[in-house]
Amino acid sequence: MKAKSIHWAAVAATAAAVLAGTGYGMAAPAGPSAVGDDRAYVYRIPGGAHLPPGRLAGLDLLEDRDGDDLFVLGDAATALHLNSAGLRPKVEQRLAPAAWEPPRRSGQAPALTAAVAEETYYGGYRTVNAQYAHLDQVASDHASLATVVDIGDSWRKSTGRPGGYDLKAICLTKKQSGSCRLTPDSTRPRFLVQAQVHARELTTGEMAYRWIDYLTDGYGSDATATKILDTREVWVVPVGNPDGVDMVQQGFTGGPTGQQWHRKNANHTHAAATCAEGPGTGSGIDLNRNNNSHWGGAGTSSHPCDPVYKGRSADSESENKALQGLYRKLFPDTRATGDTAAAASGTRGMFVTLHSYSDMVLFPWGFDGDTASGNDAALRAMGKEMARLAGGWEYGRPGEILYDASGGHDDWIYDQLGVPAFTWEIGPSSGGCGGFHPAYSCQNGFWNKVRPMLTYAAGKAGSPYGGATSPVG
Ligand SMILES: [Zn+2]
Repeated sequence: MKAKSIHWAAVAATAAAVLAGTGYGMAAPAGPSAVGDDRAYVYRIPGGAHLPPGRLAGLDLLEDRDGDDLFVLGDAATALHLNSAGLRPKVEQRLAPAAWEPPRRSGQAPALTAAVAEETYYGGYRTVNAQYAHLDQVASDHASLATVVDIGDSWRKSTGRPGGYDLKAICLTKKQSGSCRLTPDSTRPRFLVQAQVHARELTTGEMAYRWIDYLTDGYGSDATATKILDTREVWVVPVGNPDGVDMVQQGFTGGPTGQQWHRKNANHTHAAATCAEGPGTGSGIDLNRNNNSHWGGAGTSSHPCDPVYKGRSADSESENKALQGLYRKLFPDTRATGDTAAAASGTRGMFVTLHSYSDMVLFPWGFDGDTASGNDAALRAMGKEMARLAGGWEYGRPGEILYDASGGHDDWIYDQLGVPAFTWEIGPSSGGCGGFHPAYSCQNGFWNKVRPMLTYAAGKAGSPYGGATSPVG
């Protein structure tokens, strides 16, 4: 496992001096318990992996683990809560606030112009509108390769509120008759990549952006990109949660800074009172816990302000209706019901949902690490290769290397349709490029790892479970 002791170097001297040797100091004059401290902290929970289910309920449990220790994101109040619960938290990292940038618009731009395509925040990350303008630009510049599809509406838009967005996908392939049809009988195997379902995971949207450019700019000159678009239909949803990303953008551009940590969608209507926005808390439904596959199981919460709030019913959210609608249009169902039924060996297709961070490749089942799916061996073999291409990430079912998590998009698409499904947790936990908000300059390094993983996954879409093969590259 990764050594974490280096994190102490990043902890503020005051907090470290007070906290490092003493467990947690309730009376710390300048540590996280100080009045008016609105910074974000990562807390290490020693032995957290062995705590009974529910002991960490309501906390913003990070997708990270070090041996038996788990990690929680929060503020000063979180530390007091953890301490009073007897969990003996240690400050792992104090997170510096991001630089302020001029305010940007909220909600979908009326026209996705070239100027809109240049809208960025926090050093270069694309706004939702910039991502959408980029899709239109790509389709305009590469008419024989790209088609943009409106797949549904965000919660705000679907309920008539201001600030909402469409959900958009782009289909990339060297077009032939019948390409990019919204029916599951495609000629070419399909590979679907989605990003930024968790709004604060900035790296993921950037990876989707670069993947689109790599394929379309590389067609005709880069042999691998050319082969992929000649033999595959690649689909990309660059922003799975545009309302949430809008909130994050506002947090970085003069709005409430707590929104920089917003994870869920914008549906705030389930909470009796406004949920505070910040590390460890926020409004909305966790789209990656809302899907109807073991909905409400391990790793979910019934409390609306919790980071893993599952919603009132499975598949309730507008964004998930749009995403699942796309899944069903792109892929036939090749798997019988039941947790151990295998998908047909001739199944084609591939699904990767991009998250951050922890340098991990995850595959179903997420709901229970002790339950092997009927395709576990094939999923594990592909996961191993993806992890190798990334330079040595961990891989496994979530419960094996992290913790159980129910109602995810990966579990749903494998459960309902038999499509091989992977979650990539991109980026390290520590160091200058660690965490949810790495400097934009870190993206080159991430892309060097993710590009070979994506090209491998595109190839495996031809025969992921070992039937007749049609490899790429
Ligand atoms: Zn995530």
